[in-house]
Amino acid sequence: TTFSEFGLSNNLVQSINNMGFEEPTPIQEKTIPLALEGKDLIGQAQTGTGKTAAFGIPLVEKVSIDVEQIQGIVVTPTRELAVQVAEELNKIGQFKKIRTLPIYGGQDINRQIKALKKRPQIIVGTPGRLIDHINRKTIRLQQVSMVVLDEADEMLNMGFVEDIEAILQEIPETRQTLLFSATMPKPIQALAQRFMRDPEIIKI
Ligand code: AMP
Repeated sequence: TTFSEFGLSNNLVQSINNMGFEEPTPIQEKTIPLALEGKDLIGQAQTGTGKTAAFGIPLVEKVSIDVEQIQGIVVTPTRELAVQVAEELNKIGQFKKIRTLPIYGGQDINRQIKALKKRPQIIVGTPGRLIDHINRKTIRLQQVSMVVLDEADEMLNMGFVEDIEAILQEIPETRQTLLFSATMPKPIQALAQRFMRDPEIIKI
């Protein structure tokens, strides 16, 4: 398979070329077509497999540049991962001119509120800070159509499961949900059971 066989917009094919990706990794090969179809997915994959682009490519493809609302949200366990994922999404969206904003604890909240006024289409954030913005009504999630839970097992280990549930409850049920986790312990299976619709499981 090549990236051009996924039926992606030219601007995405161009940015993927620009990033130096020649062919999809195994997780990308399985994830991208199903995610583009709108399916809920559970990806069991480690870091280094190309999982960021596996969800990032369909996410950027689906976001509308004309809608100035948050349409995609990626939840990560750490600020480092949030920054890293936001950078990769910005690269994937470089020609589409999608605005992606990382939102994490430890950074000045007023600075984040100012950045949110530039109306990013995608936000990548850590659970606690996302909840903080939801409570302050500085982010609105009513227009979100795709949610990605990245490194879900790490978020479980860090005690974020209740925060994740609270975030998911703010997002319309018509959304598409993607969950990535290196392992699938019981509480993650329960989360998937409760918040996902007939998810397809992809193991690498
Ligand atoms: P990840 O598992 O998302 O952390 O990705 C690991 C690394 O692989 C990152 O530096 C990506 O930029 C890179 N990468 C992802 N997909 C591809 C691909 N299809 N071809 C080459 N490198 C890739």
